[in-house]
Amino acid sequence: LNRRLAEFGTTIFAEMSALAVRTGAINLGQGFPDTDGPEAVREAAVRALRDGRGNQYPPGPGIPELREAVAAHQLRFHGLRYDPDTEVLVTAGATEAIAAALLALVEPGDEVIALEPYYDSYAASIAMAGGTRVPVTLRPDAASGSYRLDLDELRDAVTDRTRLILLNTPHNPTGTVLSRDELTAVAELCVERDLLAVTDEVYEHLVFDGTHLPLAGFPGMRERTVTISSSGKTFSFTGWKVGWVTAAAALVTAVRAAKQYLTYVSAGPFQYAVAEALALPDSYYTELREGLRARRDLLSEGLRQAGFGVFSPAGTYFVTTDIRPLGVTDGVEFCLSLPERAGVVAVPTQVFYDNQAAGAPFVRFAFCKRESVLSDAAARLRKLA
Ligand code: PMP
Ligand code: GLN
Repeated sequence: LNRRLAEFGTTIFAEMSALAVRTGAINLGQGFPDTDGPEAVREAAVRALRDGRGNQYPPGPGIPELREAVAAHQLRFHGLRYDPDTEVLVTAGATEAIAAALLALVEPGDEVIALEPYYDSYAASIAMAGGTRVPVTLRPDAASGSYRLDLDELRDAVTDRTRLILLNTPHNPTGTVLSRDELTAVAELCVERDLLAVTDEVYEHLVFDGTHLPLAGFPGMRERTVTISSSGKTFSFTGWKVGWVTAAAALVTAVRAAKQYLTYVSAGPFQYAVAEALALPDSYYTELREGLRARRDLLSEGLRQAGFGVFSPAGTYFVTTDIRPLGVTDGVEFCLSLPERAGVVAVPTQVFYDNQAAGAPFVRFAFCKRESVLSDAAARLRKLA
C-alpha cells in the first residue's frame, strides 16, 4: 500500500460486519437495511434486464431518464433547478461521487475541511486526491442533546490553502441535521473566502426533527456547491450503488472527467429502476421516514434502559451513544467485546476522528433493521445494565 493510503487498511464497516458473521451477533454496526426497497422498483430493474435496457455501456453521464428524474427530484423536494443534460451526473454510489469530486477539484497540497467524526471514505478520498484534511470537530452539546458545529472553529480552520469544505448533513455518525443558521454561516464563509463546497446529502429523506436544507439553496452557493446523494439510503438498495451529483455545469464537467477513469459508467439496468423510484409519490418518502422514526425511538429507549447516554438523532439511521455511564471509556475495546458480552455489534465512533480522544467514549448503533431485531438487540443490551 502506498503512502497516501497506508493508514487506510480495511474499512471499519467490513471489519465489524465480519465480526458479526463470525460471532453470530446482531449486526447494528454497518448501516444497511435488513429489508429491501419497494417491490415495484425491484420489478423495474428486472424488466430493464429482461428488455435489454442498460445491459451494454450506458451513456457516461448516466441514462437520460435517470438524469431527468434526479433533476425533477431536486426541484420537487428542494426547489432547486438543474439541467439534466449538463448539471447532473450519475455515479457508482455516493462513494464514487465523493472520490471523483475530490479527485477533480483538489490540487495536491490543497486543504479540505471536513466535519469530524466523518464517514470513513472522506479521509481516504482526500488522501487519494493528494489533499490535506483539516478536521473541524462537532461537539456534543448537553443543552440540545446533539452534536453541534462550532462556527468559530470552522472559521478558524480556513487558510489561504483551503480549497473546499466537505459537508455532510444529515450527518453520519452523529445524526445531526445542520440548522438554517449553521448552514447560513457555512455559506457565508464559502462566499467570503471563495471556497467550493461538496455536500453529502445521502440521508436527505431520513430526517425526524427539523428539516433538511441543501447547502446549494443558500445565497451564493448554487454555483459553488457539488451536491451528492444516492439511492442506497432513500430506497433501501445499498447494493445497487447508484448515486448522483448535481452542480453547475462546469463543476459537473470536472467531476465527470474523474468519474470517466474510475468506473467510466455506472451499472445500466439499476439506473432505469432508480429513475422510477425517484418518481414515487410523497407517501413513499413519508412512510420511509415514519417507519425509521419508530425504530429510532425503539432502539434509543432500549439503549437508555441499558444505561447508555443517548444522543437522539434528528436524522440518518444511526444513534450515537456515550458509554461512560456504563463505567467504561474506550469505545474500541467496548465494541470488540460487545458480541461476546451481549451478542450485538456496534461501531466505535473513534475511528471517524483524527482527534481520537474526542471520539473515544462514543459508540454508534444502526437502527435500519426490523423492529423484532431491534427489540431483540435492546433486550440483549439491557443485560449490560
Ligand atoms: N456518505 C455517507 C455519509 C454514508 O453514510 C454513506 C454510506 N452508505 C455513503 C456516503 C455511501 O453511499 P453509497 O452507498 O451510495 O456509496
Ligand atoms: N454508510 C454505511 C455506514 O456508515 C456503510 C457503508 C460502507 O460500508 N461503506 O455504516
